[in-house]
Amino acid sequence: MYKIMTAGPTQVRENVRMARSLETTNPDLDVDFCEFYKETCDMLQEMLHSTGTAYILGGEGILGLEAACASLTEPGDRVLVLDNGIFGKGFADFVTMYGGEAVLFTSDYQCPINPDDLRAFLEKDSDFKYATVVHCDTPSGVLNDISKLCPLLAEYGILSVVDSVAGMFGEYVNVDESQIDILCGGSQKALSAPPGLTMLWVSDKAMKAMEDRKTPIASFYANILTFRNYYIDKWFPYTMPISDINGLHVALVNVKADKDMLERHARIAKATRQAVQNAGLKLYLRDGYSNTVTVIEVPQGTTADQILATMCDKYNIMISGCFDVLAGKVIRIGHMGENANVEDMLLTLDAMDKTFAELGVKLACSMKEEFRKLV
Ligand SMILES: *Cc1c(COP(=O)(O)O)cnc(C)c1O
Repeated sequence: MYKIMTAGPTQVRENVRMARSLETTNPDLDVDFCEFYKETCDMLQEMLHSTGTAYILGGEGILGLEAACASLTEPGDRVLVLDNGIFGKGFADFVTMYGGEAVLFTSDYQCPINPDDLRAFLEKDSDFKYATVVHCDTPSGVLNDISKLCPLLAEYGILSVVDSVAGMFGEYVNVDESQIDILCGGSQKALSAPPGLTMLWVSDKAMKAMEDRKTPIASFYANILTFRNYYIDKWFPYTMPISDINGLHVALVNVKADKDMLERHARIAKATRQAVQNAGLKLYLRDGYSNTVTVIEVPQGTTADQILATMCDKYNIMISGCFDVLAGKVIRIGHMGENANVEDMLLTLDAMDKTFAELGVKLACSMKEEFRKLV
C-alpha cells in the first residue's frame, strides 16, 4: 500500500472506514435512514453556510457537475463557461450534451479569473441562464475567488454553478454570502471519505429555475428535482448507498471537530510552495494558489513518469501527475484533508529530495528541511 499524497482521493481515517462497515438497514424502507440522510444533509448546509438545500447523490464527484448542467440546461439555453483550467473548460461538454450553447470566457490558465475582466465581458453580453466556475481547478491548482465571481454573476441575473470538489473544507466556502446557486462537492477530496458520493447545495433560485423549465430534464439519474420531496414522501429516486453515507457522516463529524483545519491547510500549503521554490523548482502558477494542492513544473533532465515511479517504487509514496494539456508537464502534491499534516508532508518532501537526487536533478537545498523551518 502506498501512502497517497495525491490530489484526491485522499487518505481516509480509520473511524470513517469503520463507519462504512457497520451493519445496515434497508435505506428504501426504513424511515430512520431518511432521518439520518436529512441530518447529514443539514450538517453539510450548516458547515458551508447555506440556507438552500443540500443533497447527497450516489455517484462520484463528476455526477454533481453533470446533474447541475442536466437539471438547469434546456435546449438552446446560453451558458457562460468560465474557463481558466481543465475542469473549467470541461463544463462546456456537459452544457452541450444537454442541448445548451456553451459560451467560453477563457483566461490565463496560470492565474485566477480577474473579476474586473469578467465584468467588462458581462457589460457587453450577459444573456446567460447560468454560468459555471471551478473554485479550485485541481490540474493547475488555481483558486478562483468565488466570493467575488458569483455575486458579480448574480448582479447580472445569471445563476452560478460552482465546482468546489477540490476546494471545499480545505478552502473557505460560504454558499449564501457568495450567492452560489448550485455548489458541487465530492466525498474523496478534503473531506477525506472514499470516492463514491456527490454533494450538492442548491439555492431556492436554482430550484425554481428547474421547476419552471418548459422541457423535461433529459436524465433520471442526474435529475436534481427527483430529490426535492424526499423528506415529505420518505422516498428516494434510487436506493441510497447507505454505507458510503455512514462514512461521509463520520468524515463530516471529523471536519467539524477540527477547528484549525483551514488555517492548517494554509500554513502547510504556504510552507510547501516556499520550500519548493527555495530548492530551485518552479511552481506552475503565477498567482492564485489553492491551499489544497501544490503544482510543480517538471524540471529539465527528467520526466513526470520517472519522478512518480521513483516516489512509488522506492519510497512508497504516491503523488499525482496530470492529464490533458498539462500531461507530463507538472507533478502535484495533494495536501488536502487528511493529507494536510506536517508529518506526511515531511515524509513526502524527503522522498522527493531523494528522488530528484537519484534522477540527477540538483536542488539548491533540501525541500524537507526548508519545509520544517517554514511550517
Ligand atoms: C476530483 C475533481 C472532480 C471529480 O472528478 P474525478 O476526476 O472523477 O475525481 C471534479 N472537479 C474537480 C475540480 C476535481 O478536482
